[in-house]
Amino acid sequence: MSRTELNELGEFALIDHLTQEVAIHHQETILGIGDDAAVIENKDSCTLVSTDLLIEGIHFDLMYHPLKHLGYKAVIVNLSDILAMNAVPKQITVSVAVSNRFSVEALEQLYEGIRTACNLYKIDLVGGDTTASPKGLIISITVIGTQQKDKIVKRNGAKPGDYIYVTGYLGGAYLGLQLLEREKRIYQEHPDIQPQLGENREILERILKPEARMDIIRLLDKNHILPSAMIDLSDGLSSDLLHICKQSGTGALIEEQNIPIQQEAQLMALEFHLDPITCALSGGEDYELLICVPPDLHDKVKTLPSFYYIGEITAPENGVRLKTTHGNFHNITAQGWKHF
Ligand code: ADP
Ligand code: MG
Repeated sequence: MSRTELNELGEFALIDHLTQEVAIHHQETILGIGDDAAVIENKDSCTLVSTDLLIEGIHFDLMYHPLKHLGYKAVIVNLSDILAMNAVPKQITVSVAVSNRFSVEALEQLYEGIRTACNLYKIDLVGGDTTASPKGLIISITVIGTQQKDKIVKRNGAKPGDYIYVTGYLGGAYLGLQLLEREKRIYQEHPDIQPQLGENREILERILKPEARMDIIRLLDKNHILPSAMIDLSDGLSSDLLHICKQSGTGALIEEQNIPIQQEAQLMALEFHLDPITCALSGGEDYELLICVPPDLHDKVKTLPSFYYIGEITAPENGVRLKTTHGNFHNITAQGWKHF
């Protein structure tokens, strides 16, 4: 048997490869693998399901991620996938695998964060599983949500002429992470030096304690706006916009000058000699929503708070491109998180 290395495929190609022969046996399964959540049709509405796995050393580092925040974030990243379908998350199950490095008190902290997120977002924790792990902490959360079938928004509905919005600042989580990693390195070399995190509350919160945009889903509902396509920005704007375009069979043109980046992130990018735009395009984990809106709703959306217009969906032959502030055009390529 030949051997193919995981990094030859990358995450998305690997998922495609492993799941290409998966059969659907039930007509209630109206959307399977490939979107932010799966959709199961019930009598009067649909149930949405999504799951995420967080591994110590891959997704989080307990040297700088407090367990309480980690529990909170683990819930948030799951809620975000249900919200990205324009649906309402309602229940979660939480499974943990822990090594004996962790005490009961440590796990209490993790659950305090989980409870805080559940109470704030009105989510019921309805089950899970607990087991030992040979090394480190593993958290797996499954989230269940609901929505009427005709209000579910998938990744594949974008059409040329649709406006593309994002719901908040991008790149902050990535720069928060760079800052934490830098201070960790300094601490490891000089344990007597205190971390210099400075006045960077916004970007640190972005990475350590993000929020899910439940408010946006409520706002869309209140204003009777049904987007054509939606995704949550977990892998990075480039990668996630490419998912929308690939699945919708379109191109897109976004403008550098329109991409919202907070000042704190701009300054931190400068400090790291990074281009803020690259951080916004390739850095993930901001958990904002990317929302495509058909032309007849442009006027309505323009007036809404938290909607940042970044560009337009185009015909597929135009490709997926970025127009720089100098008027140059660049093809956008996927540079999301590389897991392998
Ligand atoms: P997201 O970034 O929104 O969490 P992912 O990129 O993790 O989404 O997953 C994309 C799609 O592939 C989802 O529909 C997810 O359920 C599915 N998927 C991911 N990993 C697997 C797997 N090992 N087996 C089956 N489906 C998977
Ligand atoms: Mg998602």
